Order: sequence, then C-alpha cells, then structure tokens
Amino acid sequence: MLDNYRHKGLRKKLVEELSKKGIENIDVLNAIDQIPRHLFMDNAFINFAYKDKAFPIGANQTISQPFTVAFQTQLLGVERGDKVLEIGTGSGYQSAVLLAMGAKVFSIERHRSLHLKSKNILESMGYQPKLFFGDGYKGLPTFAPFDKIIITAAAPYIPDPLKEQLKIGGVFVIPLGEGDKQEMLRLSKQEDGSFKQENFGDFSFVPMLENKSFGS
Ligand code: SAH
Repeated sequence: MLDNYRHKGLRKKLVEELSKKGIENIDVLNAIDQIPRHLFMDNAFINFAYKDKAFPIGANQTISQPFTVAFQTQLLGVERGDKVLEIGTGSGYQSAVLLAMGAKVFSIERHRSLHLKSKNILESMGYQPKLFFGDGYKGLPTFAPFDKIIITAAAPYIPDPLKEQLKIGGVFVIPLGEGDKQEMLRLSKQEDGSFKQENFGDFSFVPMLENKSFGS
C-alpha cells in the first residue's frame, strides 16, 4: 500500500498532537513523522491510523497508542547505534520507530502470526531487525547485553533475565502491574548492578503472558 500526501498530512497533525501532549524529543517526533502507521494496521482501521488511539491488530492484540509509543521511546532515550531489545513486537510499529531512530532492534513476539506479519512489513520497508518468535520473559541471552530494553505489554513483575541482559548504564522501560492499569517505570542500571527506579504514571496495556505461545 502507498504512503500518499493524505497520509503524510495526517501524520504531521499527529506529530503536532503528540508534541502538545508533552513529547519533546525531536528524534522521536521525526520518527513518528517518518513511519507510515497505516501500513501496520488492518485495512478496516486504516482511516484511524493517525488518531492517537490503540487499535486491534488480530490475535486479540493491539497496536499501542501513538502517545504511548512516543512516551516509552522518549523514556528509553534511544541513540543511533543502540542495541535495543523489545518484548512484544505486535504489529512491528514500535520496532519501526526504533529503527527509524537508528537503533539495532531485537524484538520478541509470542504470536507466530504477528511475528511473521511484522517481519514482512519491516523488511518490505527496507529495515533489517532481528525478530524472534518466543517467550519474552527469557529475553535473548545469546545477543545480550543490550543498551536499552522496552516491554510493550503489561508485565506482572520485572523478569530477572531481562535485568541481567541490560548493560551497566542501560535503561529499561516497563509497564508494571496486572489488571487495567500499569505503572510506567524506568529502571537505570547502576555501576554496582542495582537499579534506580522512576515512575511516570498510569498506562494501559494488553497482558504479558507467561509460559504461552500461539502458533508453531
Ligand atoms: N509494540 C507493539 C505493541 C503490541 S501489544 C506494537 O507496536 O504494535 C503487546 C504484544 O506483546 C502483543 O503482540 C503480545 O502478543 C505480545 N506479548 C505478550 N506476552 C509476551 C511474551 N511473554 N513474550 C513476547 N511477546 C509477548
């Protein structure tokens, strides 16, 4: 599908909206401006692609609200060349935003259908992320350590393997908690391996499920 002037215009408006809602990082706003979000959504929702809303993407999952994507990315403080691990590839939109910012993206998804679909879209856009079908709780020990880690589903607790796979000086953004609301936490790994924790308020995510994967 094309990315036409109408899509580009709608995207500019979305960027203005996100900026008004408090997103200040220019690299994040540029990435949102650059990535055609409509390509990551089901055809039925294409007219809603540039509204600041979450939408269904199949397999009972959602593409995160643009504000949430922008907010989490801003908290991560992504720099060009950073090795970023994402848990919950979903539609692949968050991965695309990280890729547009020059990150090396490693992303895990437990729904095979979503894993395959996101891989297709991102590769057709010319990106080469490392995408994995599997359980995000375990992370990717073979590829560790990472500069940044982002979870894009509601985590009931902070998985130890992910803490271990973060570099000293690294940043981990995680929506923590079960139920309807999660607290957005930023953990920064200190020299001695401990974590400084900051809380950025309530958000709402689909659950990060354990010991389950769908598709084979
Ligand atoms: N970053 C995505 C958001 C998708 S919603 C986007 O931009 O579209 C969260 C995703 O996390 C869902 O696709 C869900 O299937 C996935 N998920 C949930 N638990 C997981 C786990 N344990 N390991 C990997 N992915 C998981």
